[in-house]
Amino acid sequence: MSERTRIIFKRDSESSIGRGAIIYHAHFRPEISVILYWAAFHAPNELNGEMWVTEGWRNIRESRDLHKECRAFDLDCTRIEAKNYLVRYKIAQRWANLLTEELGPDYQVILHAGEKALHLHVELDP
Ligand SMILES: [Zn+2]
Repeated sequence: MSERTRIIFKRDSESSIGRGAIIYHAHFRPEISVILYWAAFHAPNELNGEMWVTEGWRNIRESRDLHKECRAFDLDCTRIEAKNYLVRYKIAQRWANLLTEELGPDYQVILHAGEKALHLHVELDP
C-alpha cells in the first residue's frame, strides 16, 4: 500500500494502438470511481507511486462488456517493478486479492495474464 499514488490515465500518444483510456463523466459515479479510490490505496509499492489506467470505455466487443457501460477499468500491471514476470504476477495477484476483499461481492477483479499486457480488470457487476 502506498499513501500517495498518482493516478494516470493513459493518453492516446502513449498507447501502442493509438488509443489511451477513454474516460467519461459516468466513470466518476460514486460506485464506479470507488474502484480507483481503493485500487490506488492498495497499489503495490513496486508501482513506485504511479497507477496507470489503461482502459475505461470501449465499444469493440461482441460479448457483454462492462467497459461499454462505463462500469470497468483496466489497471496496468506491466509497470510493477520485479525481477521477472512470475514475481510481477504474484505482486499483481496480491493487489487483486486486496482489492477483491475491499470492494466486496458486487465487484469483479480479474488478473489478466500476459507478459506484455498484464493488467487488472475491475468492474461493478452486482
Ligand atoms: Zn477490462
